[in-house]
Amino acid sequence: MTGRVETKPGRILEISSVANPAIKKIRGLSLKKNRDAEGVFVAEGMKLIIDAFENGWEVETLVHAAKLSSSSQVQEIAAKARVKGAQILQVSEKVLSSITRKDNPQMMIGVMRQAWADVAKAAVTSQSAWLALDRVRDPGNLGSIIRTVDAAGADGVILVGDCTDPYSLESVRASMGSIFNVPLVRMTVEEFLGWRICWSGMVIGTHLEGAVDYRSLDYQNAPVLLLMGNEQHGLPDNLSGACDHLVYIPMAGSADSLNLSVATGVVLFQMAKRTGKGIMVS
Ligand code: SAM
Repeated sequence: MTGRVETKPGRILEISSVANPAIKKIRGLSLKKNRDAEGVFVAEGMKLIIDAFENGWEVETLVHAAKLSSSSQVQEIAAKARVKGAQILQVSEKVLSSITRKDNPQMMIGVMRQAWADVAKAAVTSQSAWLALDRVRDPGNLGSIIRTVDAAGADGVILVGDCTDPYSLESVRASMGSIFNVPLVRMTVEEFLGWRICWSGMVIGTHLEGAVDYRSLDYQNAPVLLLMGNEQHGLPDNLSGACDHLVYIPMAGSADSLNLSVATGVVLFQMAKRTGKGIMVS
């Protein structure tokens, strides 16, 4: 089975029924088991499709509102997709709503192939910065983190253990297009601990009981692997034990902890000062 819906590549089809098999198949991609089986995912909105093209991604199936068929921007996007063999489905708003389960759906949807990177093949320099996430559960958090990694100029995200799917609709939405510019790696805990031994730089874990203020570490001139804990439970002992340093972010007030994506942004942008990437350069 391929991720392509079963219509002839490159064809333009008009569909008005939510029961159409091609539409049912795309709607089924809201379930992780179907995304995994097909190796594809759904990106919503013209902006995201344009971001995808700009980053060299291809669309396998492009779905857009039939009422926009005469829009020159839609025609241009559809032509680009079609040249690469994509099928173009011109559909009613009801059909678009049925795919995204929203009353005011985006007018364009792309079905694309998932991409997974191999961190072992990534070049490591003194400026390398990878982020590892331990069992991240919330798709909104994961999408925001991917966006933050992109903005901070870090190299990519390693998903360790049983993480939420970065290719879910919610996570792709929250990444705001950064999903197309951030390499994603997935590893079991055992694979991660094995790979970590070969990592030539610092491994920094964030922990509520960390011994070091995150601002006091010197991030200069060494590859950095930043490890963040699970939203509910934080880092387990086997992962915190694999870190060179455990850092904390000082907090005022009565909050027990920061939201995972906020904590990630705080430390990543501190690290980004070394390369001049990011907005907090001083
Ligand atoms: N109840 C969890 C615990 O005991 O660790 C809270 C987890 S917190 C919501 C999720 C992750 O964000 C933590 O595992 C840590 O990586 C990071 N984090 C949040 N606030 C932090 C802080 N003030 N200092 C260091 N890390 C923090």
